Amino acid sequence: MPDAREFKLDKVPEGSRLQKYLRELPEVLKKSADEIFTYLSLMFDECSRFLESGSHFENLPSIRLKLIPQHIHFVEEEKEADKIAKSIEIPKGSSTAFVIHNRYYAEICVDIERLIGLLEHGYLTFIMNLIETYVHEILHLGFPEKGEQETHDMQYLLVGAFLGIELPAEAKNIKASDYYFEKAS
Ligand SMILES: [Zn+2]
Repeated sequence: MPDAREFKLDKVPEGSRLQKYLRELPEVLKKSADEIFTYLSLMFDECSRFLESGSHFENLPSIRLKLIPQHIHFVEEEKEADKIAKSIEIPKGSSTAFVIHNRYYAEICVDIERLIGLLEHGYLTFIMNLIETYVHEILHLGFPEKGEQETHDMQYLLVGAFLGIELPAEAKNIKASDYYFEKAS
């Protein structure tokens, strides 16, 4: 998942999942790190269940989520992962997540420090980037044959559907080539 972006929304729909998160998050963030991580994991579970229930996938592997608290550790682990397996994407900037595969499951590793840092742009930007990160990586696992542009196009629709909102136009206009180098073959 490429670099983070700032989001603005004219109105949060009543009863939407986004509204629920926007209400709950400020309280959650006052709690302990463990409780915050538990909540972010629940958001991931809701998101992956939503994607699975829409039968968007046929062969989704078993997925684990690893929230990495410190950016510096995220970078180290990402480098290690790159040594073992060829990454699906080669981001131009820094990424917010990567995936490790083994025989039994896929692990989505997320740079939580970096995402939490987005709170300075507001709860909405944080939630949007977190959910985009989740959806993006799950889509890669569900559709390993699809490239970045196709993944982004699907992601745009699914993030909106999951959060119960219409995404702002600027969220749609992602050109994957702005974010990724072409995959070396
Ligand atoms: Zn990607």
